Amino acid sequence: MLLVVACGSLAIATLLYVFWVTPELVAAKSHQEREREFLQERKEVVYENLRDLQMEYHMGKLSDQDYSQLKVHYQEQLALLLYQAEQIGEPAPAALPLPGHCLRCGKDNPAENRFCGACGQTLAQAETVR
Ligand SMILES: [Zn+2]
Repeated sequence: MLLVVACGSLAIATLLYVFWVTPELVAAKSHQEREREFLQERKEVVYENLRDLQMEYHMGKLSDQDYSQLKVHYQEQLALLLYQAEQIGEPAPAALPLPGHCLRCGKDNPAENRFCGACGQTLAQAETVR
């Protein structure tokens, strides 16, 4: 019985090593795949942040104002990630939007602007675009 457990863990460890650590495997992936995975990871992080935020709010650690501000912030990040994920799969994947670049009307605003000067669309902030 112990032997079975030992072999099982060894097999699992080997699989994990092969699929997670092998650098050739990572290099062999296409640009699109890596981009998609990157966005997927970022999306999961933002979802997790939202969950944590919700929890902290319910525990009374955040004021209503802080909560809604942070919630909007994460939702904006999420919207941006979903937008970027949508762009992947196009024949020529578009570059990440620059801070201040309006995704709705295409106007380039100063990077510190939160909203588009032309159409009022919420803009990607510098720290959300890397
Ligand atoms: Zn605009």
